[in-house]
Amino acid sequence: MTANPWLVPITTMRRSIGARRQEERVGPVGELRVAESVVPAGAVAKADAILDSVDGGIEVSAVVTAPWIGECRRCLVSVEGELRCEVREVYRPRRTEEGFDDDDDTYRLQPDHLDLQPLVRDALLLELPMAPLCQEDCLGICTTCGADRNTDGCDCSIEVRDPERGASDVLRRHPGDAPRGATT
Ligand SMILES: [Zn+2]
Ligand SMILES: [Zn+2]
Repeated sequence: MTANPWLVPITTMRRSIGARRQEERVGPVGELRVAESVVPAGAVAKADAILDSVDGGIEVSAVVTAPWIGECRRCLVSVEGELRCEVREVYRPRRTEEGFDDDDDTYRLQPDHLDLQPLVRDALLLELPMAPLCQEDCLGICTTCGADRNTDGCDCSIEVRDPERGASDVLRRHPGDAPRGATT
């Protein structure tokens, strides 16, 4: 059985407030998904973390990275990239006098270690794009003829965008391009 790469021993750090330590950890964090954007289950995430022993806990500042894949929201082509985010959280031991608190429980300091995985997962989930694009000006798929406008192009574009046929008729009769023969 291999050791969990996200567990960091903190026993000696806890003894001296002000102590600082750098940890670079790499490993899988399980699948993360937001809509069609996914960090695949087998993907390797990385955390470049600095741990500071502070009053009441351990503050973790980390740069978290992981690969992701998804689907362009307009043309449905697959897209991929790397997520990169910075986080800062304080891990605290559970305080019994305050009763049970879910938030406190998320980044809990165990007597001898802390687990970076929830911090890494939360950071990546926030960073996953909800509606990615393959490129800033992706033209998408024509809803009338189904052509991929990025590669094929088509002629139906303008009328399709206007749901009201009447409105585009009016536009076409704009005085600037009055039909030939029209007089006033
Ligand atoms: Zn696209
Ligand atoms: Zn078309």
